[in-house]
Amino acid sequence: MVELIQFILYLYVFIIGIVIGSFLNVIIYRIPREISFAKGRSFCPHCNAQIKGYHNIPIFSYFWLKARCTDCGEPISIRYPLVELCTGIMAVLIFAVYGFSFQWLVVFTAGAILICITMIDFDTMIIPNELVLALMAPALLSFFFFPQVGILSRVIGIVIISLPMLVLALFIPDAFGGGDIKLMAVAGFMLGWGNTLLAAFIGLLLGGAVAVALLVRKTKDKHMAFGPYLCIGIMTALLFGDIIIQWYFSLFGL
Ligand SMILES: [Zn+2]
Repeated sequence: MVELIQFILYLYVFIIGIVIGSFLNVIIYRIPREISFAKGRSFCPHCNAQIKGYHNIPIFSYFWLKARCTDCGEPISIRYPLVELCTGIMAVLIFAVYGFSFQWLVVFTAGAILICITMIDFDTMIIPNELVLALMAPALLSFFFFPQVGILSRVIGIVIISLPMLVLALFIPDAFGGGDIKLMAVAGFMLGWGNTLLAAFIGLLLGGAVAVALLVRKTKDKHMAFGPYLCIGIMTALLFGDIIIQWYFSLFGL
């Protein structure tokens, strides 16, 4: 019985996640194109036909419609259900760590914004300022709901990664974008300095691995978006940072 209630709770959180993921798809599509996401229903990017409400059910519609627009028959990108699925899984992971709490809400809000930053940075190589500004909301709220991260740790967190990135960017043009630097400053306040270091380390590890893979495959395009890997690092630190740092120190018997 307890297991069933648990399962229903997790399913409920997953559904909240994929519904919000569906909304994130709208934000990800509209911000770079400067279309207001407050007005108008979702539409097909090929024929501009409005998507009917019952064709707009997260994940399921994609398979129901066999990945094609009902009006023009053009394929619907797999990225839409993938973003919904990722948001759903993220909602469940945060629930597993924080339960039903304000902490869930703060971390989920941050994660939703990070998903938007990830996809838009992949698409355009730009992290929109409005999304970095939006991330300030959960960052400021985390000050109240995560009191274990002290104010000094947060202030150091703002500069501990963003400042070295800024210096690097001055000497090596194209090393990082300004968006990456601003992202790490806001994330630094949210995480505190220890978890900010961890987030940047994970980001560098993942981003570095992808950069090497691109070099090996001799991709002509020299530029790659670094923001997505930083976002994965930030999200990992938000969820499991304290556990990972404890485990790391335990390796040295500390
Ligand atoms: Zn269409």
